[in-house]
Amino acid sequence: MSTSVPIVLGVDLDGVCADYEGAFRSSVARQLDRAPETMPPQTIMDAYSQWGLTLEEFEAAHRRAVIEDRIFRHMAPLPGVSDALWELSDLGVWIRIITHRLIFNWAHETSAADTAAWLDANQIPYRDLCFIGDKPNVGADLYLDDSPTNIVSLREAGRTAIVFDQPYNRHLPGPRATTWDEVVHLVVTEIEARDRQLPLPLSGIAPHDRSPLDAAAEDDGGQVAVGG
Ligand SMILES: [Mg+2]
Repeated sequence: MSTSVPIVLGVDLDGVCADYEGAFRSSVARQLDRAPETMPPQTIMDAYSQWGLTLEEFEAAHRRAVIEDRIFRHMAPLPGVSDALWELSDLGVWIRIITHRLIFNWAHETSAADTAAWLDANQIPYRDLCFIGDKPNVGADLYLDDSPTNIVSLREAGRTAIVFDQPYNRHLPGPRATTWDEVVHLVVTEIEARDRQLPLPLSGIAPHDRSPLDAAAEDDGGQVAVGG
């Protein structure tokens, strides 16, 4: 029997919505005066030992990347993330951002503020923003993550977790998405499998609602493409 309860999608940020590794590579290159090509894509997610960093060096470099280079505000979005999340939101999916970014003290204001600014600047629709490491304790019907540790812990807790493909998680079984188009396909398939009837649209977020900046950019010759 169908219900009117929206499906909640728990979405990780780093390595899923945003290119953390690319931003961190640029910051480490600046901090340590290293050439970026000496820091290849990591295939093991372990505090960048493949770049020659110890855990302590990674933590120090990450802290400087957040505070000095403001990577949470400036890192690049991964291709297609905004359009895909808007497509899902317009289908009635409740987007719940779940991120473990507050990993050290005395930089929480920068981390939280830059994260919110990044989400707005990159036009990411979301209903909740959760800063937490213990992801299985954040309720969601479906989770999307790149971290092997998170995927394993979510699945051990009985959650359904989609792997967002990265070189360091290829050993994990699917479901797996290699693009944001594939995320949409997998989520829609999951919704259909659960026989959920979605409210269209969610109240408070109009379909294709865009920021004023985006509306202005789309306003060509006085034709405003989107509304309030
Ligand atoms: Mg991640």
